[in-house]
Amino acid sequence: MNKTHLGHTARKRFGQNFLNDTFVIEQIVDAINPQDGENLVEIGPGLGALTDPVCERVNALTVVELDRDLAKRLRHHPFHGSKLTIIEQDALTVDFNELAKPGAPLRVFGNLPYNISTPIMFHLFSHAGSIADMHFMLQKEVVNRLAAAPGNKNYGRLSVMAQYYCKVQPVLNVPPGAFVPPPKVESAVVRLTPHPAPVVEVTDVKMLERVCTMAFNQRRKTIRNSLKDCIDETQLEALGLDATRRAETLSLEDFATIANWVSKHDS
Ligand code: SAM
Repeated sequence: MNKTHLGHTARKRFGQNFLNDTFVIEQIVDAINPQDGENLVEIGPGLGALTDPVCERVNALTVVELDRDLAKRLRHHPFHGSKLTIIEQDALTVDFNELAKPGAPLRVFGNLPYNISTPIMFHLFSHAGSIADMHFMLQKEVVNRLAAAPGNKNYGRLSVMAQYYCKVQPVLNVPPGAFVPPPKVESAVVRLTPHPAPVVEVTDVKMLERVCTMAFNQRRKTIRNSLKDCIDETQLEALGLDATRRAETLSLEDFATIANWVSKHDS
């Protein structure tokens, strides 16, 4: 399998699968629709598959790249180097709030390294107040989980947390052949738009995450059983929730109701 693209050998530990399909790239950039003057940030620019066409439309772009060799290449890019602000750092350690400017929330995009795409999204969710929207290439299975509704087999912790923070819109499916080297899985692009105001009141987001983790770790069990360490059956019923339901049937509002009660009574 060819792992070398434009003179660079893909590094597995950095999740490097480079986009190499002009039609797919064009569709992604059209979906992002970057405009000059916007506060655009790309995570993992790599060899510039998305960076280059975006720079053809705008005059400034911030990129976050962990691979030192790729950051160096971008710095010396013959056409777009001067438009780029290069942050040579792990995206998980970047304070995205610091990159936002008053009146210029971030528009974040990237073909994410699949090995750490979920931690990167959670890191960005914690900066959601500074972000206007995000467009990410992910494993298709992850996009299905982000977008899943209660009752769907893909519905889980990631669906509840993503939908708490954002509106989730799948944009495009992408086959393995669009990348060098091709990943072993199907891919898809998703648009995540942080809600301008919370869609449900949650007093402690960490507790919402904790309750979701407990409930979905034992997704075949009733919530009476999976959540017994934090709330009992009588209390679930008092909150108007049938204790014989399973996690996969609970809505974001139901999880928020439980998490808010546990936050209040957790000692
Ligand atoms: N955007 C390019 C493309 O579409 O061809 C490359 C995408 S490749 C799937 C992922 C990119 O993220 C690589 O350039 C990789 O070096 C970079 N990367 C991996 N881990 C990273 C991290 N923790 N922080 C920032 N960039 C990272």
